[in-house]
Amino acid sequence: MADKSVRDSQRQKVYDAERLAFEGTAERDAPFRTPPDFRKVAECQEFVDKVLASPAWKYLCPLGPDSLAVTDGRGRRRGAAWVEGGEIAMPKCTRRRYYLLHELAHFATPSGVFASHGPEYVSAYLYLAGVFLSPEDHAKLVSAMASRRVKICDYMGSGVYDGTTVRHVTVAESVTVVDPLPASATSCLTCGQHLPGNRAKFCTDACRYTHHNRLRHERGEPERQKVCEACGTEFSSSRKDAKTCSARCRQRLRRGVTKRL
Ligand SMILES: [Zn+2]
Ligand SMILES: [Zn+2]
Ligand SMILES: [Zn+2]
Repeated sequence: MADKSVRDSQRQKVYDAERLAFEGTAERDAPFRTPPDFRKVAECQEFVDKVLASPAWKYLCPLGPDSLAVTDGRGRRRGAAWVEGGEIAMPKCTRRRYYLLHELAHFATPSGVFASHGPEYVSAYLYLAGVFLSPEDHAKLVSAMASRRVKICDYMGSGVYDGTTVRHVTVAESVTVVDPLPASATSCLTCGQHLPGNRAKFCTDACRYTHHNRLRHERGEPERQKVCEACGTEFSSSRKDAKTCSARCRQRLRRGVTKRL
């Protein structure tokens, strides 16, 4: 992870929760006890391709990335994601579905904007786990996160889009979650516009951000006026390090597509 500007304070808790959920121990750096889901890099790649091609991924990350390369990770003890380079390194011992989803979630919530393993990250990760792991494995991960007191936010709401409908996912009680999606929700919670079919609560990422900024504001966190580094529009954020007005601009900035200010 290139950018460490946002403090990554719950990384170890996330790792511990995964070990607890899938290996039955939260002991740090314990060797994996279970066999990997995949033997070959090609099988990992196939799984990643399936995720990236899914409506669920498009919903999480409307502007991509839509392709990523899984590499061998030889000589590493851990998997790693290079958001800039579009690469996920997966050493042999790590080749598991949840592990790949962990790395994929980093692409949905790039560090620098978000803490690497912060609440938004965990929200994206659990969202992917809800779609691509079995319901049992998803439940195990959620309850392990809760037992390690991992913070999750409503970045992804509580809806999981499976290609046709949005279903509510129950997250354990000790974590912060938004209200379940009303079955009749057809308009954006921020601007009231009619929702496109693949959107659960907000018409655009910009509206999702506005909503979350409002919530922060209500919690008394100071707002800062900012100018988006990608499109030049003014926006307000309670994040000291916010650089862009929306997820769209965050992605554009990441790809180096910026308008001269
Ligand atoms: Zn990570
Ligand atoms: Zn809207
Ligand atoms: Zn912008």
